[in-house]
Amino acid sequence: MGIFGWSYPPGAANDPSAPYNQETPPCEVCGHNEFDCICPECPVCETSGDPHCYETGGHGLQRTQAQIDGRAALDELIRKQAEADRAEGEYWSHPDRQREAAEMEQYWRDLAKHERGES
Ligand SMILES: [Zn+2]
Ligand SMILES: [Zn+2]
Repeated sequence: MGIFGWSYPPGAANDPSAPYNQETPPCEVCGHNEFDCICPECPVCETSGDPHCYETGGHGLQRTQAQIDGRAALDELIRKQAEADRAEGEYWSHPDRQREAAEMEQYWRDLAKHERGES
């Protein structure tokens, strides 16, 4: 075994089951990812996790409490994420941050000039 074989366990950022590493969006009905989806297969269209199958005039499927809870948990997660994004957006759009960013950019520009031997 190479010396690095065991010393670099995969970090959380590489965790394939982490919600932010999913290529496919979570199930619309139960809020779980595609591997953990708890929805039964619809007898009509033979797919699972389609909200239309649960609607009035749909395919007669009824949401279980687990599906409702799962979806609610996902909504809560999305709401929190949106809130965090908004807070971050507000933070960076604050005039002080904009000024700091501009100053930082100017600083790097001056530094680059300096390194090229200009002044
Ligand atoms: Zn599902
Ligand atoms: Zn269906």
